[in-house]
Amino acid sequence: MGMDLQIETIAAARGRQTDMSSDTPRICIVGAGMSGLLMAIKLKEAGIESFRIFEKADTVGGTWRENTYPGLTCDVPSFFYSYSFEPNPDWTHRFPPGHEILAYFERVAEKYDLLKYISFNQEVASARYDDGTWSIETAAGETMTADILIAGCGPLHKRLYPEIEGMERFEGAMFHAAAWEHDVELGGKRIGVIGNGSSGIQMMAPLSKVASQLTMFQRTAQWVVPLDNRKYSERQRSRKRRFPILGKLTRRFYQLVYETFSVAVTENGIWRKIIARQCRDNLASVADPDLRRKLTPDYVPMCKRLVISGDFYPTLTKANVELVTDGIQEIEARGVRTIDGTLHELDILVLATGYVPYAWGIDQVVGPEGLSLKQAWAQGSRAYRSVGMPGFPNFFMLVGPNSPIGNVSLIDVSEVQAAYIIQCIDRLREKKTKAMAPTMEATRAFHKSVLSAMDGTVWTTGCSSWYLDEDGVPVTWPWSAARFHKEMRQPDFSDYDLVES
Ligand code: NAP
Repeated sequence: MGMDLQIETIAAARGRQTDMSSDTPRICIVGAGMSGLLMAIKLKEAGIESFRIFEKADTVGGTWRENTYPGLTCDVPSFFYSYSFEPNPDWTHRFPPGHEILAYFERVAEKYDLLKYISFNQEVASARYDDGTWSIETAAGETMTADILIAGCGPLHKRLYPEIEGMERFEGAMFHAAAWEHDVELGGKRIGVIGNGSSGIQMMAPLSKVASQLTMFQRTAQWVVPLDNRKYSERQRSRKRRFPILGKLTRRFYQLVYETFSVAVTENGIWRKIIARQCRDNLASVADPDLRRKLTPDYVPMCKRLVISGDFYPTLTKANVELVTDGIQEIEARGVRTIDGTLHELDILVLATGYVPYAWGIDQVVGPEGLSLKQAWAQGSRAYRSVGMPGFPNFFMLVGPNSPIGNVSLIDVSEVQAAYIIQCIDRLREKKTKAMAPTMEATRAFHKSVLSAMDGTVWTTGCSSWYLDEDGVPVTWPWSAARFHKEMRQPDFSDYDLVES
């Protein structure tokens, strides 16, 4: 298998990692999104200020900076989608609007005085490990020599643009959901949305309120679970301001709920049945049999990432909204032509077509033997326990391959990983250890156990989704969130190649 070959290649690098000479290591973090900012805070807490963050854009916030589409909401509860150490009493809703999340990260960056560590507009172009250090260069020409490299780029990083015949001929406005063009007037326009993932579905209700005609082009039906997004009253918010413990308790409550619920994707038990039932009941609430038939998926609920929306089905029943399930034949100057020959005339076309799965934005990271992560991952992204790669010394990832990335809080996941990485850095700072990378054996054993556990998960029950790599193997954590917390509590250094002085 390809990975084995790569592992052998990487194995040649073992034992050649060299010096990390200071107890205040120089650290490069890639990305100033949720996980990069978190890592910076944790480094400061550990007494390390010798780090720099390279951020490709001109502000912090990652995905919450990129995404500004109408209706953007996080479908993880606000109190759980917050750092555990930084509760926010001012969330206005159970599920937070995108702009509140972005404002939260901007506030956190200021409060923890992180801006001075960030080089903005500096996309990392290459990072190469040689002679015991990482040499990092950005596309704009900034360079850094670091002892440790930490990637916080996220798994859904690169927009996926569909390849549809005639796209260049469209005469209206056309843009990706994650690159919303706010100067395009929506009022009274005929708007088309290609894609019905979480992004496409979330924008339907707000767009339906302004568009003269709204058409969703659906390729594959989605299971949808309706959860009410209740508003927090000013009284509730002021109570949380006065008693911060309430915010922490709310977070803990949702953490327990989600830990319980996350078992539904990994085990074929009662929780899977309960959630599947909720999806089916929701679908049954669609009164029009023809619409219901179009909306009925042919796979098991949660095989694709579950969409949470209480307003999607009602929106589809509005007079100015249409769900089109005939395949797209081509895009023409005036709209989208489907295979039944119909031309759906449009003024605006939104591409809610998602992301290139697992394009981590760190392909250009190169280990001591000249092997890049792109090459190492040619047969699919694999990592050691979501944080490390064999043959890539002193390199760590946040939300790397095999992180738990179902309907969970990636902040919770990142906090576990950041705490793990800090323990690795502590070991490096003890000077006894100059460099570390997970061993081939440990990585291979981990991957084997991941593969055998995947059989029981819902992701392998037969659907196409971004959870799967090219071989149809989910790049996720096949066990419970609770197990992730437990297993990642502390590194097992016997799984690492350690270069001791
Ligand atoms: P997505 O889930 O990957 O959905 C992409 C959609 O575009 C799918 O319906 C796909 O159809 C369709 N599509 C892609 N290429 C197409 C083509 N050539 N022709 C027709 N249809 C095409 O993307 P997303 O909605 O942006 O969501 C991605 C992920 O981001 C989510 O799963 C979630 O993890 C995250 N997200 C989270 C939230 C949140 O609230 N936390 C909100 C938005 C996004 P097929 O299904 O047939 O492939």
